[in-house]
Amino acid sequence: TAAKETLGFQAEVQQLLHLMIHSLYSNKEIFLRELISNASDACDKLRFEAMGKPELFEGDGDLKVRLSYDKAARTLTISDNGIGMSRDEAVRHLGTIAKSGTKEFFSSLTGDSQKDSHLIGQFGVGFYSSFIVADKVTVISRRAGLPAGEGVKWESAGLGDYTVEAVDKAGRGTDIVLHLKEGEDEFLSAWTLKSLVRKYSDHIVLPIVMKKEEWDQEKGESVVKDEDETVNQASALWTRPKAEISDDEYKAFYKHVAHDFEDPLAWVHAKVEGTKEYTQLLYIPGRAPFDMWDRGQDGGVRHGVKLYVKRVFIMDDAKKLMPSYLRFVRGLVDSNDLPLNVSREILQESREIDTIRGGCVKRVLGMLEGLANSDEQTDKDKYATFWKEFGKVLKEGVGEDFANKERIAGLLRFASTHTDAADETVSLADYVARMKDGQEKIYYVTADTFAAAKNSPHLEVFRKKGIEVLLLSDRVDEWVVGHLTEFDGKPLQSVAKGGLDLGKLEDEEEKKAAEKVADEFKDLTEKVKGALGDKVKDVRITLRLTDSPACLVSDEHDVSGNLARILKQVGQ
Ligand code: ADP
Ligand code: MG
Repeated sequence: TAAKETLGFQAEVQQLLHLMIHSLYSNKEIFLRELISNASDACDKLRFEAMGKPELFEGDGDLKVRLSYDKAARTLTISDNGIGMSRDEAVRHLGTIAKSGTKEFFSSLTGDSQKDSHLIGQFGVGFYSSFIVADKVTVISRRAGLPAGEGVKWESAGLGDYTVEAVDKAGRGTDIVLHLKEGEDEFLSAWTLKSLVRKYSDHIVLPIVMKKEEWDQEKGESVVKDEDETVNQASALWTRPKAEISDDEYKAFYKHVAHDFEDPLAWVHAKVEGTKEYTQLLYIPGRAPFDMWDRGQDGGVRHGVKLYVKRVFIMDDAKKLMPSYLRFVRGLVDSNDLPLNVSREILQESREIDTIRGGCVKRVLGMLEGLANSDEQTDKDKYATFWKEFGKVLKEGVGEDFANKERIAGLLRFASTHTDAADETVSLADYVARMKDGQEKIYYVTADTFAAAKNSPHLEVFRKKGIEVLLLSDRVDEWVVGHLTEFDGKPLQSVAKGGLDLGKLEDEEEKKAAEKVADEFKDLTEKVKGALGDKVKDVRITLRLTDSPACLVSDEHDVSGNLARILKQVGQ
């Protein structure tokens, strides 16, 4: 077996460690939540892998997390009998950051510890938070299925490097030993540990156990008994009746499932009964994660809904449970009907999953509509936050989810000439309510920046007549208007396409005058057309403009000027 080796941390790890210790100190106790959360994930992974390979349990299927401490040695140990790590896995998982969104995270850091602590929270705190309270961390682990001689001991002071060496470990799983810093003795107390578990980790489904302690009157101190005591509720939160779950419990559970540091924006918890029985607990995060736009190895973006079957964890990021435009949703679905022993592939194809997915989409859209249409200011504010963080993603749904197109359209928010502000606050229903007498269409302009949209010469006649125009400048807006041709029976119309047809809003006299002018200047337009040659299809006199001398217009069925620009940028 390999001798002890010293390896350097990846540069980003060092940077993260430094930040973590400095900006999260006031929240130092969260290290326990992170380590318990990892232990619980490790047990979930084992349970899943063991479905097809029961020998991985090595005769011990009683999965749990154990907390223990040694006052004399000043160590605190978090142990689990989950999947464990091989030497290579320890090096990879505890020495590097392999997460997507890492680059964005590091480039968004500001140096202001207050702001950065929020960013770290969003990025994921994780294992390295142990170094907030420990000046040395020893990890002893053995992967399930490997022989007892192939354990690994990983050790680091959280500075530039760590060591790894082979050790014997009889039981599979992981022990994380924290050698506490000077002044962190508060964590060497059963009372403190139990109250932290209650505060942060009560919702963990696995039992979290400690050795029982009793007060010894004669000795005048507590003595540790050789008997375990479970210190969390250890019941699946989502199986409990809603009325018995507090908001704080929902929030704590969110932080665990979503690996987030901050509170969620909203959640929905429902038990669906009938031909298909399942429970949904779905959350909208308070902020967009760093990897919302990253495409992973399989080319897909990360999804965040976990699948359970009869309370047993089956998989993370179950892509089939949520469409891509709702990939920011976090939480879980627990089905009573799916078979436990099926492969991921089969699960992904199953009809039950399609039904569940349909139900989840409706539930999430309903939750969003609830916020958007609520009379409560706090809900309205939440919807505004939601839109700011996730609006661009939701817009994808207009072209992605035909069945729910109308509902998604109702949730869209745009900038418009009504306020001329860049914030997207105008719904299509607001627009329709403000339409002029005789106005039949919903007008919009697309451009590659808000300023360009707002200052588009195509708007001149609309401004003059006081007709509202939606100002679209997100790249995805071209996709939206490409798929959303009408709302509430009113067609959407680009102001930059085709002949300007204002329908009943047109002024007959103006139109006649324009036709006359067009006739008079026929020679000029012919000449300009001749001079521009192939570059244009036609040159016309227009009513569109009030200040500008000329503008470019696309044909009704051609790609718009803005889309043509986008396509060129992406190399098409
Ligand atoms: P995350 O949990 O978000 O993946 P962490 O920093 O908490 O990030 O953990 C990094 C990785 O280290 C985990 O993804 C896992 O692969 C590994 N790991 C951490 N703790 C354990 C453990 N108790 N058992 C097995 N693997 C672990
Ligand atoms: Mg973790």
